[in-house]
Amino acid sequence: MSTFQAPRGTYDLLPPDSATFLAVREAISAPLRDSGYGYIETPGFENVELFARGVGESTDIVSKEMYAFTTKGGDELALRPEGTASVLRATLEANLHKAGSLPVKLWYSGSYYRYERPQKGRYRHFSQVGAEAIGMEDPALDAELIILADQAYRALGLRNFRILLNSLGDKECRPVYRAALQEFLAGLDLDEDTVRRAEINPLRVLDDKRDAVQKQLAGAPALRDYLCEACKAYHEQVRELLTAAGVVFEDDEKLVRGLDYYTRTTFEFVHDGLGSQSAVGGGGRYDGLSEMIGGPALPSVGWALGVDRTVLALQAEGITLELPSSTSVFAVPLGEETRRVLFGVVTDLRKAGVAADFAFGGKGLKAAMKAANRSGAKYALIAGERDLAEGVVQLKDMVSGEQTAVALEGIVEAVRSRLA
Ligand code: ATP
Ligand code: MG
Repeated sequence: MSTFQAPRGTYDLLPPDSATFLAVREAISAPLRDSGYGYIETPGFENVELFARGVGESTDIVSKEMYAFTTKGGDELALRPEGTASVLRATLEANLHKAGSLPVKLWYSGSYYRYERPQKGRYRHFSQVGAEAIGMEDPALDAELIILADQAYRALGLRNFRILLNSLGDKECRPVYRAALQEFLAGLDLDEDTVRRAEINPLRVLDDKRDAVQKQLAGAPALRDYLCEACKAYHEQVRELLTAAGVVFEDDEKLVRGLDYYTRTTFEFVHDGLGSQSAVGGGGRYDGLSEMIGGPALPSVGWALGVDRTVLALQAEGITLELPSSTSVFAVPLGEETRRVLFGVVTDLRKAGVAADFAFGGKGLKAAMKAANRSGAKYALIAGERDLAEGVVQLKDMVSGEQTAVALEGIVEAVRSRLA
């Protein structure tokens, strides 16, 4: 029988590289946890209608990239292509917005699925860490989220990223701009698909990546000139708060983002070392989403950062994260009786909070020491029958090579104090 391969557009996370992914998730979520965001986990699939209504029927995500399927029971489901719609659905379902004070601040980490053309940085299964602040209109929240993402990337050592910022207006001013843009687009020479997109969601045309289209867009009306006073003032406050926090950003009028639910603030983190898959994360305000999925008015803001692309960004900047070895002590027994005793010591070490591993399978000294080396342990605990007879084990410092006999009695404490 032939062996299986991971499906197209997916890859496995394997040690030792997988440790970097865990560290990235940790680095992105740590500032959120320290800022009042609680952890939320939602199912990997939802009713397809949630995404159709939430993300938007006309978006690439829903119309082209979604893994939608009918279950044996006849339910119409989809693997989640993004996190926000699910988090808001869960918030509404559990009435989190009524239970405590607003905003409801949540963070998540998980797998997302999009049927895309696989290439470097673009996969069919990928991983995001995201944050949502639900139920409050306050420019300080928009600023907080951008500052926390910036902090996370800086903590990872990333420097070559830029923050693009825009305002998409609200339900007062965007429709006026939309109509003006539509009128402009109607005068251009566009292909059939783009003409249809101009009818359904003209702002998305601004996002077209083709040069030929971008050339024609040169004289397009600018959203900035259409923003209402409230949106202008709101955006100005976000900009001021970011500046005061020392976060550098670029105003980017073309930044529309690929999801329909955004209003007012939108932003994207781009990394200049990633080629065409340059967006490492993005987000914005989605004041209308709750109502779009049947809830009350709950103005909210959030972002999602791509873990896969963040790891690629680290590589692009030549950054290797300092990941301490997960094993501190590696036990090497020589002989049957020592096997039993050292296995007991390893269990006790683990209970005492010392990360310990063991040479399994009755390996000889050479192979066992090789395994000890590979584990990255600071100390090896080596013992033969004679050591046991003398009531000691050999504690070998794996860096200096120095070896000392230590009493078996009280070994856990002896090791612990050395590691401290
Ligand atoms: P792009 O414009 O590159 O398609 P996007 O706007 O569709 O990105 P979002 O929906 O904003 O992306 O998702 C947030 C982040 O999730 C992205 O910035 C990216 O880091 C990551 N991401 C999105 N799609 C993929 C994918 N197919 N493979 C890997 N990472 C992805
Ligand atoms: Mg996309």
